[in-house]
Amino acid sequence: VTMYQGKRVLVIGLAKSGLAAAMLLHELGASVTVNDQKPLDENETAKQLHEKGIRVICGGHPLGLLDEPFDLVVKNPGIPYTNPMVAKALEKGLPIITEVELAYAICEAPFIGITGSNGKTTTTTLIYEMLKEACKKPLIAGNIGMVACEVAKTAHEDNWVVTELSSFQLMGIEAFRPRIAVLLNIFDAHLDYHGTKEAYAQAKGNLLKNQTESDYAVVNADDEWVMKLAEASSATKIFFSTTKPLNSGAYVKDQAVYWNSEKVIALSDIVLPGKHNLENILAAVAAAKLVGADNAAIARVLTTFTGVKHRLQYVGTVNGRKFFNDSKATNILATQKALSAFSDQRVILLAGGLDRGNEFDDLIPYLKQVQAVILFGQTAQKLERVAKQAGIETVYHVDNVEKAVPVAYEISKPGDIILLSPACASWDQYKTFEQRGDIFISAVHKLE
Ligand code: ADP
Repeated sequence: VTMYQGKRVLVIGLAKSGLAAAMLLHELGASVTVNDQKPLDENETAKQLHEKGIRVICGGHPLGLLDEPFDLVVKNPGIPYTNPMVAKALEKGLPIITEVELAYAICEAPFIGITGSNGKTTTTTLIYEMLKEACKKPLIAGNIGMVACEVAKTAHEDNWVVTELSSFQLMGIEAFRPRIAVLLNIFDAHLDYHGTKEAYAQAKGNLLKNQTESDYAVVNADDEWVMKLAEASSATKIFFSTTKPLNSGAYVKDQAVYWNSEKVIALSDIVLPGKHNLENILAAVAAAKLVGADNAAIARVLTTFTGVKHRLQYVGTVNGRKFFNDSKATNILATQKALSAFSDQRVILLAGGLDRGNEFDDLIPYLKQVQAVILFGQTAQKLERVAKQAGIETVYHVDNVEKAVPVAYEISKPGDIILLSPACASWDQYKTFEQRGDIFISAVHKLE
């Protein structure tokens, strides 16, 4: 790849992706300048780049830097376009891209790009697992794997790079053209960053913008906004639907998953719970079939895959009680989804965490099948109020997740679902939702 040789590139923001982008551009012969907010003496990444001979400017975003003649800006997806530095680059008409665009430019393998408001990580993982099982040599990049630039370097023609893309990444797309694009759903998310739902949907739509007829767009026929974007795309459309049988694509009929006219798997053989996950499963089946995966490989994954860690992850069964870790549920919407997944079962819910000032009344309609709640963290009192309003009499307050597990076990019966789905962020008591989930898992294992 010679397109970046001699180019003067400014990399703004130095998370993992900025580091990988700067290194790659340097290797490709670009003249790289890196700018990061954090001062150099506390900035390990910047030091690392500096040692490689890359120019680093740290401790702020000096606007004067943009008076220099840059050809291109690579921006960390998390930095908004309203950032003064980025705004000035835009004003000067500089192309602004994100790291995945670089990955695409150097990659020999085709891409499968997955986006949506929810379900990206789950669907990406499912596609990766299905292709692996079918010996299609997938590589995973993005949230769960390595950053796309790093993966792209190692990829060969016969690999498939499977990567999830946030709308922040998709805004910085110029030439990125996935062979298969997967568009899951579009909810009112991240409107603080994008302004309007139209702008947000447009960013998602960027996934399809460079595709032509020889590429595929796997799209959710049940989502109005997704369908609008699909209509405007030149790609060959492949539909999936959890609500109605289709003539082609992935859909549910007679309690089974179908691809075109083939039955792939009975719903009762799928481990992953929840209607929302069925959406992710159908999208993954479509993508895997387009690559040529066989039904047996797909079925092997769906009969064993217990979920991405912390996302309604099945942890295990202890004396007939099934434990699920949904620590990623840091808001009400996610906990609603989790409770819906068990709507016909008895549930003991473990919840609570950081108080963001909101109320939890929207949970009430979902608490019908909940037998008891075990509460912890800053929001415990607020959650007790809605639990009582929903008619739940058994309410316990405990110090933390670790103490909640044995209490839940003690009051449960065989057949019960014991679900950690906090509806709150973890930062009042834990470093991350991952740490909170790990503590839950080890507390469950202690019961065994
Ligand atoms: P993302 O990577 O887009 O954040 P994840 O796969 O990590 O998505 O799932 C995060 C949460 O989003 C899940 O715990 C679940 O509550 C919800 N979710 C997952 N898939 C869907 C879907 N298809 N529709 C609606 N909600 C979903």
